[in-house]
Amino acid sequence: MIIVKIGGSKGIDDGPLLDDISALIKSGKEVLLVHGGSEETNQVAEALGHPPKFVTSVSGFESRFTDRRTLEIFTMVYCGRRNKSIVEGLQQRGINAVGLSGADGRVFEGPIKTSVKVIEDGKKKVLRGDNTGKVTKVNTKLLDVLRESGFTPVLCPPAISEEESMMMNVDGDRAAAMLAAAYHAEALVILSNVPGLLKDINAGIDNPDNLVEEIDLASDSDPYEFAKGRMKKKIMGAIEAVDSGVERVILASANVQQPISSALGGSGTHIHRSAASAAVSNAG
Ligand code: ADP
Repeated sequence: MIIVKIGGSKGIDDGPLLDDISALIKSGKEVLLVHGGSEETNQVAEALGHPPKFVTSVSGFESRFTDRRTLEIFTMVYCGRRNKSIVEGLQQRGINAVGLSGADGRVFEGPIKTSVKVIEDGKKKVLRGDNTGKVTKVNTKLLDVLRESGFTPVLCPPAISEEESMMMNVDGDRAAAMLAAAYHAEALVILSNVPGLLKDINAGIDNPDNLVEEIDLASDSDPYEFAKGRMKKKIMGAIEAVDSGVERVILASANVQQPISSALGGSGTHIHRSAASAAVSNAG
């Protein structure tokens, strides 16, 4: 199985990736999808007079502060327009896609955090009223019912909180990582508007020397060395997936012809843990 995460940043063209996914499924590969919708959520939130607020946690990770109104707008965009546009695109290509949020059938479940410790103007602060959580459990039952009947699930945040059963915003890359882990996927392909992890985000996305082609988690190098902003969560998700038994995670561009096939064939940033080095480090 291959898990594909479709990004939600500015400038992603769904056409080539949906062509590729349909061709892969028709050739007999099983593909499950998770998608984002951050850029469109920002636009709708602005239009509705409730502009987005991003915070940086004390550990340096950026996230959307999700009060209840933001969660409602987020849900409208992710589970509504974005999800149904992907479902429509797959249906037009002959794939019987079904859109689901992580709250449906409790597919994505985990603890919610209603307050977040952030750094604002160099000072630590606690913000209350957040609805953000982390996927720690993937309940595959509903997905298996659909898969076994020939449907292709198209998943998105929000998830559901384990105790209160409240909807919560979760990071899509890390949710996709948990899904890949639950199915022991052969690969997790994370597609976005960049060709992979770049050494210098300002040095141009078309310069091949600027791309990190491989991160071997068994080596001593710091996997977070080049990642800034939201790229840090992708690296974190990739590490979680590889550490849970997913063979390889590939960060690649959504905006090329056959983005998934080309990522599986070598393009993008390949993140894995080499057996040889792992054996050496275990021995040491
Ligand atoms: P999506 O929402 O499509 O999943 P994100 O916006 O979360 O994607 O992450 C991709 C973004 O990460 C890029 O558009 C880029 O601005 C940012 N980024 C930060 N550091 C890097 C880096 N070293 N290499 C590539 N992208 C980076």
